[in-house]
Amino acid sequence: MNSENHPTEVFKFCPRCGSDKFTTSGPRSKHCPDCSFSYFFNASAAASALIFDDEGRLMLTRRGINPHKGKLDLPGGFVEHDESAEEAIIRELHEELGAEVQDLKFYGTFPNQYEFSGIIVYTLDSTFIIKLKSLDNLHPQDDITGIEFHKLEDIDLNDIPFRSIQNTIKKLRENN
Ligand SMILES: [Zn+2]
Repeated sequence: MNSENHPTEVFKFCPRCGSDKFTTSGPRSKHCPDCSFSYFFNASAAASALIFDDEGRLMLTRRGINPHKGKLDLPGGFVEHDESAEEAIIRELHEELGAEVQDLKFYGTFPNQYEFSGIIVYTLDSTFIIKLKSLDNLHPQDDITGIEFHKLEDIDLNDIPFRSIQNTIKKLRENN
């Protein structure tokens, strides 16, 4: 990942007054001395679901959008403004699969970073173990093209582009 794609490098001018003195003031912040505007490039919150079938296999999705179109992912997505991570994963499962959540239990958080449209995007994924009302009649839509169930030990981590999800699967394997 190129350091020139770090947010503090990409955002060269003050977005409030246009000053070219918009200066890096910390590892994820910039400050404008001309108008006193400060901005922090905080990690975006995301939520992902760990859903197992009766044989203990994990549900993975095929990404239908870039970055990493065609690669494996967990169901989930970004948390909207003023939304809880729990609300986000319930909403995403409904949008992506037409699925209804019966039970939800917090599992852990996993940091991630990836490059998209020339800037490094930082996220923090909140992961939940989720029981759906039914695994039948799921309809992949929105930004995924299909769902697959895999035994944890059979998942090829090279098919999973995101470090946060690789680390989630590693932790699940350790705790299995
Ligand atoms: Zn300014």
